[in-house]
Amino acid sequence: MTKPLFDTLAIIGPGLIGSSIMRAARAQDAVRTIVATSRSPETRKRVLELGIADRVVETNEQAVEGADLVIVCVPVGVCGAVAKEIAPGLKAGAIVSDVGSVKGAIVRDMSPHLPKTVHFVPAHPVAGTEHSGPDAGFSELFDNRWCILTPPEGTDPQAIEKLAAFWRLLGANVERMAPDHHDLVLAITSHLPHLIAYTIVGTADELQTVTRSEVLKFSAGGFRDFTRIAASDPVMWRDIFLANKDGVLEMLGRFNEDVAALTKAIRKGDGEALYEHFARTRAIRRGIIEAGQDTAAADFGRPHTHDD
Ligand code: NAP
Repeated sequence: MTKPLFDTLAIIGPGLIGSSIMRAARAQDAVRTIVATSRSPETRKRVLELGIADRVVETNEQAVEGADLVIVCVPVGVCGAVAKEIAPGLKAGAIVSDVGSVKGAIVRDMSPHLPKTVHFVPAHPVAGTEHSGPDAGFSELFDNRWCILTPPEGTDPQAIEKLAAFWRLLGANVERMAPDHHDLVLAITSHLPHLIAYTIVGTADELQTVTRSEVLKFSAGGFRDFTRIAASDPVMWRDIFLANKDGVLEMLGRFNEDVAALTKAIRKGDGEALYEHFARTRAIRRGIIEAGQDTAAADFGRPHTHDD
């Protein structure tokens, strides 16, 4: 496909993900014009100062007027309300997408509001950091990361391919999944790890015998990565757990069974069972490195991106 792929891109919610899309789209000449809007005047002002949009407008409806590609980059819980707001302003033939970390709920919340004249192609770029807001974004965020498209059945294949081409231009590898399957996969690869991080950091904080300063002092070990993940945006993660209740509960059930099995092995002094388990998980880690989704290098100093 020839560049630019779209004439006008509208970003609603130019936070970490939205502003990274804007920066990457600009860097790759993926679109001719970028229009952005945000809920707060402060964020709108900041986006203007950063110079990452051609125009910043006040309302969600204004932002989508004349846009060929609209990407809703707000927390999962407000996607439905935003779809309702933008519906009257959407141009016939426009592609409407999102970046939400949960897909089943978003399809159910957004679809009913969108006119039949637009193509709805939900998407989830599986890339992020624990930071938020327009200053946190950067154009390389999607490099060699997955972007999962979950178009409802019957979506125009050309619209799907055009959005896929857009994400490939931004550096991502594109995959297609059914929304509910996406939610099950992400429950184990992203949502459960975040829940464990939120839990473990909370548990350590509440321990009477380990003072807060000791937790901080010795957090150079495995705990440090948990504290980074547990610093992720509370609104975003509240919405993810509310929206992917079924997927998370399913994976949490399996996880609890495995924790119980390891607990038993430790109590019984069953070194063989522990060794077998740890050897299997080490092989999984090596597989991730071979698949190019992480490096074997130590974490020190490299930018903290992770898969959300
Ligand atoms: P973020 O940095 O907090 O940005 C969210 C943006 O949405 C802010 O600009 C906020 O505006 C705006 N917003 C909130 N409600 C709005 C409304 N009703 N109308 C218009 N704008 C509104 O969040 P993020 O990390 O980019 O996450 C955005 C989405 O991406 C979420 O759905 C999340 O699930 C998904 N996602 C996140 C990651 C990650 O690692 N962070 C990775 C993949 C996908 P104000 O600043 O003006 O309040």
